[in-house]
Amino acid sequence: MGAHGIETAGVDVQKLITILNEALSEEWLAYYQYWIGARLMEGPMRSEIEPELLLHATQELNHAVLVVGRIIQLGGTPVTHPADWFKLSKCEYEAPLDPYVEAVLKQNLNGERCAIKRYKDLADFTNGKDHTTHQMATTILGEELEHEQDIEDWINDIKRMKEDMKKLRA
Ligand code: FE
Ligand code: FE
Ligand code: MG
Repeated sequence: MGAHGIETAGVDVQKLITILNEALSEEWLAYYQYWIGARLMEGPMRSEIEPELLLHATQELNHAVLVVGRIIQLGGTPVTHPADWFKLSKCEYEAPLDPYVEAVLKQNLNGERCAIKRYKDLADFTNGKDHTTHQMATTILGEELEHEQDIEDWINDIKRMKEDMKKLRA
Protein backbone atom coordinates (compact mmCIF):
# COMPACT_ATOMS: atom_id res chain seq x y z
CA MET A 1 0.00 0.00 0.00
CA GLY A 2 1.29 3.45 -0.82
CA ALA A 3 1.90 6.33 1.58
CA HIS A 4 -1.54 7.79 0.94
CA GLY A 5 -3.19 4.49 1.76
CA ILE A 6 -1.31 4.26 5.05
CA GLU A 7 -2.19 7.89 5.94
CA THR A 8 -5.85 7.28 5.24
CA ALA A 9 -5.95 4.26 7.54
CA GLY A 10 -7.06 6.81 10.15
CA VAL A 11 -5.58 5.02 13.16
CA ASP A 12 -2.25 4.99 14.99
CA VAL A 13 -0.52 2.83 12.38
CA GLN A 14 2.43 1.83 14.57
CA LYS A 15 0.07 0.66 17.30
CA LEU A 16 -2.00 -1.20 14.71
CA ILE A 17 1.10 -2.97 13.35
CA THR A 18 2.02 -4.05 16.89
CA ILE A 19 -1.49 -5.44 17.41
CA LEU A 20 -1.35 -7.25 14.06
CA ASN A 21 2.01 -8.83 14.94
CA GLU A 22 0.51 -10.08 18.21
CA ALA A 23 -2.39 -11.56 16.23
CA LEU A 24 0.02 -13.10 13.71
CA SER A 25 1.96 -14.78 16.52
CA GLU A 26 -1.28 -16.09 18.03
CA GLU A 27 -2.38 -17.56 14.68
CA TRP A 28 0.85 -19.53 14.26
CA LEU A 29 0.65 -20.87 17.79
CA ALA A 30 -3.03 -21.72 17.26
CA TYR A 31 -2.13 -23.48 14.01
CA TYR A 32 0.45 -25.66 15.73
CA GLN A 33 -1.71 -26.35 18.77
CA TYR A 34 -4.53 -27.63 16.53
CA TRP A 35 -2.20 -29.51 14.22
CA ILE A 36 -0.19 -31.35 16.85
CA GLY A 37 -3.33 -31.91 18.96
CA ALA A 38 -5.07 -33.50 15.98
CA ARG A 39 -2.19 -35.91 15.51
CA LEU A 40 -1.87 -36.92 19.13
CA MET A 41 -5.51 -37.05 20.17
CA GLU A 42 -7.18 -40.30 21.10
CA GLY A 43 -10.63 -41.18 22.37
CA PRO A 44 -14.23 -41.21 21.14
CA MET A 45 -15.23 -39.73 17.76
CA ARG A 46 -11.58 -39.55 16.71
CA SER A 47 -12.38 -40.15 13.04
CA GLU A 48 -14.76 -37.17 12.96
CA ILE A 49 -12.87 -34.79 15.23
CA GLU A 50 -9.36 -35.27 13.87
CA PRO A 51 -10.10 -34.00 10.32
CA GLU A 52 -12.07 -31.05 11.70
CA LEU A 53 -9.16 -30.06 13.96
CA LEU A 54 -6.87 -30.23 10.94
CA LEU A 55 -9.30 -28.05 9.01
CA HIS A 56 -9.31 -25.52 11.85
CA ALA A 57 -5.49 -25.59 11.77
CA THR A 58 -5.57 -24.72 8.05
CA GLN A 59 -8.04 -21.92 8.73
CA GLU A 60 -5.74 -20.47 11.42
CA LEU A 61 -2.94 -20.55 8.86
CA ASN A 62 -5.17 -18.66 6.43
CA HIS A 63 -5.76 -16.05 9.13
CA ALA A 64 -1.98 -15.66 9.40
CA VAL A 65 -1.88 -15.10 5.62
CA LEU A 66 -4.49 -12.32 5.86
CA VAL A 67 -2.81 -10.66 8.84
CA VAL A 68 0.69 -10.77 7.35
CA GLY A 69 -0.62 -9.24 4.13
CA ARG A 70 -2.14 -6.34 6.03
CA ILE A 71 1.05 -5.74 8.07
CA ILE A 72 3.03 -5.47 4.83
CA GLN A 73 0.41 -3.17 3.27
CA LEU A 74 0.73 -0.88 6.28
CA GLY A 75 4.49 -0.69 5.81
CA GLY A 76 5.27 -2.84 8.84
CA THR A 77 7.59 -5.77 9.35
CA PRO A 78 5.90 -9.06 10.20
CA VAL A 79 7.44 -10.97 13.08
CA THR A 80 10.38 -12.82 11.54
CA HIS A 81 11.48 -15.21 14.29
CA PRO A 82 9.29 -17.92 15.85
CA ALA A 83 10.88 -17.23 19.26
CA ASP A 84 9.03 -13.91 19.18
CA TRP A 85 5.64 -15.64 18.87
CA PHE A 86 5.71 -16.42 22.57
CA LYS A 87 6.74 -12.87 23.47
CA LEU A 88 4.03 -11.27 21.36
CA SER A 89 1.11 -13.67 21.79
CA LYS A 90 -1.51 -12.69 24.35
CA CYS A 91 -3.08 -16.14 24.07
CA GLU A 92 -1.56 -19.04 25.92
CA TYR A 93 -0.06 -21.93 23.97
CA GLU A 94 -1.30 -25.15 25.57
CA ALA A 95 0.73 -28.22 24.70
CA PRO A 96 -1.42 -31.37 24.35
CA LEU A 97 0.35 -33.27 27.14
CA ASP A 98 -2.88 -35.19 27.81
CA PRO A 99 -3.93 -36.59 24.40
CA TYR A 100 -7.47 -37.48 25.51
CA VAL A 101 -9.88 -35.85 23.09
CA GLU A 102 -11.73 -33.88 25.77
CA ALA A 103 -8.51 -32.36 27.10
CA VAL A 104 -7.39 -31.38 23.60
CA LEU A 105 -10.80 -29.85 22.84
CA LYS A 106 -10.75 -27.80 26.05
CA GLN A 107 -7.32 -26.41 25.20
CA ASN A 108 -8.51 -25.43 21.75
CA LEU A 109 -11.66 -23.87 23.23
CA ASN A 110 -9.50 -21.61 25.43
CA GLY A 111 -7.53 -20.64 22.34
CA GLU A 112 -10.71 -19.78 20.42
CA ARG A 113 -12.04 -17.61 23.23
CA CYS A 114 -8.77 -15.70 23.26
CA ALA A 115 -8.90 -15.33 19.45
CA ILE A 116 -12.49 -14.05 19.63
CA LYS A 117 -11.38 -11.34 22.05
CA ARG A 118 -8.42 -10.48 19.82
CA TYR A 119 -10.55 -9.87 16.71
CA LYS A 120 -13.39 -8.20 18.59
CA ASP A 121 -10.83 -5.74 20.02
CA LEU A 122 -9.23 -5.26 16.59
CA ALA A 123 -12.64 -4.65 15.02
CA ASP A 124 -13.42 -2.07 17.72
CA PHE A 125 -10.02 -0.39 17.30
CA THR A 126 -10.46 0.04 13.55
CA ASN A 127 -14.23 0.56 13.41
CA GLY A 128 -15.21 3.50 11.23
CA LYS A 129 -11.52 4.32 10.59
CA ASP A 130 -9.43 1.64 8.91
CA HIS A 131 -12.10 -0.11 6.86
CA THR A 132 -9.70 -2.63 5.30
CA THR A 133 -8.38 -3.94 8.62
CA HIS A 134 -11.88 -3.77 10.07
CA GLN A 135 -13.27 -5.97 7.31
CA MET A 136 -10.44 -8.46 7.78
CA ALA A 137 -11.01 -8.53 11.55
CA THR A 138 -14.73 -9.22 11.20
CA THR A 139 -14.11 -11.93 8.60
CA ILE A 140 -11.64 -13.72 10.87
CA LEU A 141 -13.89 -13.14 13.90
CA GLY A 142 -16.70 -14.97 12.10
CA GLU A 143 -14.50 -18.02 11.63
CA GLU A 144 -13.27 -17.97 15.23
CA LEU A 145 -16.91 -17.93 16.36
CA GLU A 146 -17.59 -20.98 14.19
CA HIS A 147 -14.56 -22.73 15.66
CA GLU A 148 -15.77 -22.05 19.20
CA GLN A 149 -19.22 -23.40 18.33
CA ASP A 150 -17.80 -26.59 16.76
CA ILE A 151 -15.69 -27.33 19.80
CA GLU A 152 -18.46 -26.57 22.30
CA ASP A 153 -20.74 -28.94 20.38
CA TRP A 154 -18.25 -31.79 20.61
CA ILE A 155 -17.60 -31.20 24.29
CA ASN A 156 -21.38 -31.35 24.88
CA ASP A 157 -21.73 -34.52 22.78
CA ILE A 158 -18.97 -36.24 24.72
CA LYS A 159 -20.55 -35.14 28.00
CA ARG A 160 -23.91 -36.60 26.94
CA MET A 161 -22.28 -39.83 25.82
CA LYS A 162 -20.64 -40.18 29.23
CA GLU A 163 -23.95 -39.52 30.99
CA ASP A 164 -25.68 -42.17 28.87
CA MET A 165 -23.00 -44.70 29.71
CA LYS A 166 -23.36 -43.92 33.41
CA LYS A 167 -27.13 -44.55 33.15
CA LEU A 168 -26.51 -47.91 31.44
CA ARG A 169 -24.22 -49.00 34.27
CA ALA A 170 -26.66 -47.89 37.00
FE1 FE B 1 -7.47 -17.72 13.81
FE1 FE C 1 -9.91 -20.43 15.43
MG1 MG D 1 -15.22 -26.09 11.98
